[in-house]
Amino acid sequence: MHEDNLGMRVQATEGSLEFVDCDVERGICACGVPRCVHLEWASDVVLFRGKRSRWLVLSSLHKELRRGDVVAARHWASWLAHCDGPDAPLGYLRKVWSEETADLDLGVRLHRPSVTLAEAIAHFCAASKVWALPAWWTAFQVWQERVEGVGPRLRHKLADRLARAQAKGDPVKLAHLRIAALAELTERRLLTSAHVVVFQARFATERLENEDFLLAALLADLLPTQVNPPLQNPRTRVARHWTNGSTLRLPPAYAYDYHSRAGLARMRAWLEHNPGGEFTFGVDTSPVDLRWARPAPKSRNPGK
Ligand SMILES: [Zn+2]
Repeated sequence: MHEDNLGMRVQATEGSLEFVDCDVERGICACGVPRCVHLEWASDVVLFRGKRSRWLVLSSLHKELRRGDVVAARHWASWLAHCDGPDAPLGYLRKVWSEETADLDLGVRLHRPSVTLAEAIAHFCAASKVWALPAWWTAFQVWQERVEGVGPRLRHKLADRLARAQAKGDPVKLAHLRIAALAELTERRLLTSAHVVVFQARFATERLENEDFLLAALLADLLPTQVNPPLQNPRTRVARHWTNGSTLRLPPAYAYDYHSRAGLARMRAWLEHNPGGEFTFGVDTSPVDLRWARPAPKSRNPGK
């Protein structure tokens, strides 16, 4: 082998502690297998910025944030920055904040102009996640059923109108209702001005997840006031090689989901091994990670 020119280390197998040396530019891998998985994966991510498999980089970041693995999340965030540009990872954390957590103070931290990516990832990883909060799943199901027009009215008129406007996808009406909701929640001291800034920032991006649900849940008292413990302030050391482009993991087994044929095959296998099981809130769907999933029966889209 041309060991002298092997500049990168690629994870040998999914989840393994071993790494093999690769020269991505020249298409040489120390594993010796022709057209090996290491070169296939690494050349797409490194040379072509994830042209074919960028979603797996993104999905790996998403799953590691959910699982709270700071080192792995920092690793995937650095590769997402390589694929999509330096602002992409923080933009993504801010986008999925309301999907993975109900933690308003985390939203504030993530949206601070001065926040670093390392701080943002550490706080996101430390926050409690919705899959671990049964009260959250119940509330979300109530909301979803109202949006779909099959559930009862929400107890609070403005919250109910938000659900119906969401169902109709009327942007002008939604914008008015959001302003009214933020005003009422501020008045009731359920949101601080810092929280309001976060919602305004999210609504301005139009890259929305569960912001309207959170407003409705607060208005209608669907969630306990304190669903999250206070944020910890973790100080995880992340070795440089995980974030400087010299090392590349293979996507973890649980990163695969409905975005790919491989993921769909893993999901089918899970259903076969768990007869009667469903991809629904909080269920351990290992080896894929669909713990934050929409209720399965009506939906063809089982979430991320
Ligand atoms: Zn190889």
